[in-house]
Amino acid sequence: MTRRHKYRMIALALVHVYIAFHMIAWHIFGIEIWGKTAMMGVPSLAKGTINAASIMVILILGSILIFGRGFCGWVCHMRGAIEFADWALLKLKIPRYQKIRDKNLLINTPHRWLLRIGALFVLLLPVIILVHNTGFQPKVSAMTPPPLADLPGYEGKAFAKTAWFNIDINPTWHDFFTAFGLALFIQFTMSVVLNLRYGQGAFCRVLCPYVTLMVPLMNRSPLQAKITRVAQCTGCRDCSNACPQGIDVSREIWHFDGKVTNLECIKCYACIDACDDNVLRDTALPAVPQTDRLKPYEKRPWQQEVVRKDGLLSNSRHMQVFEPLGPVADFVSLIVALVCGGITSRFGGFWFYPGAILSFIVFRECCLFVTRWVSEMRTRSAVASGKV
Ligand code: SF4
Ligand code: SF4
Ligand code: SF4
Repeated sequence: MTRRHKYRMIALALVHVYIAFHMIAWHIFGIEIWGKTAMMGVPSLAKGTINAASIMVILILGSILIFGRGFCGWVCHMRGAIEFADWALLKLKIPRYQKIRDKNLLINTPHRWLLRIGALFVLLLPVIILVHNTGFQPKVSAMTPPPLADLPGYEGKAFAKTAWFNIDINPTWHDFFTAFGLALFIQFTMSVVLNLRYGQGAFCRVLCPYVTLMVPLMNRSPLQAKITRVAQCTGCRDCSNACPQGIDVSREIWHFDGKVTNLECIKCYACIDACDDNVLRDTALPAVPQTDRLKPYEKRPWQQEVVRKDGLLSNSRHMQVFEPLGPVADFVSLIVALVCGGITSRFGGFWFYPGAILSFIVFRECCLFVTRWVSEMRTRSAVASGKV
């Protein structure tokens, strides 16, 4: 582990300490003016409210113009959960996950933008309903909305007030920590399940609604630092293999004037740490031109989409593999997730996510099973009728 990686892990862990500190300050000491997680920021902005949460979102989005998606790599609490899930799954030596990791497989859905926009819609749905019912009323409010109001433990209840089953809890320190632990448990469980199914960083690659807002700001400003070639690359590909976002760094710097232009880069610097030849740096300055030849890249430009032996579709331009499902399956999986998440959210807003994510995965597994079964049946009937 490099020193930089250690610092990043500490930063991601400290975000959770901050969240705990923030909630304690709010619930136990009644300090209600405080920075807020981005969770309420986008809905606040959409509702026309400028508060601590929405200012935080504006700062995060603005920072992209200079640092790129450094927020994702170093600050976002979900990233912490995702990387913890990666660490835990490796420690547990789960064969499926080891296979995914060893082969550097990052499974995706072909239409992940549909899913991300859908997730953004879900995030904004309460605001859309509110604006529909009460009208758009812009205001400035120094007070942030209650922190994580729908988390277990809020208002002295274990679940949402609307849940058919509930437990009264008095907001003692013990109950507060129980509630925080439960929230963390949900967050990490979601990450473990998604990572196990789709590989490292799955939530970011497949479902994060915030990416829908972040990505359009990437690579717009000349001030934005990017991973850049500062010496001759040997094409060893260690950087590409190290990237948790599945970016083919080695090819990116070959094809795009020495810069990683992939919109999924989260500035984790794993590629820089992996390069023993010190070829990479994070800078807005121009890259050093590549004069040494890299014959494999000259001969084979970005690979065309191909069907792999395991049935997934590969496309080396994004170094991702895709599930062979069409846009209809993607759209319906989103609806299934929405409905199931809606049902589990009766236990409190945060319970939306476990319900939605689990149903999303199960539904897609069923679709993949049916797809394989249909194609097997077709092959068999073709063989039987002597067409093959
Ligand atoms: S993509 Fe979304 S979940 Fe992932 S780190 Fe960025 S903001 Fe967090
Ligand atoms: S390209 Fe480098 S900095 Fe960007 S996500 Fe990949 S490893 Fe991290
Ligand atoms: S940038 Fe470094 S690690 Fe990546 S292919 Fe070139 S020499 Fe290898």
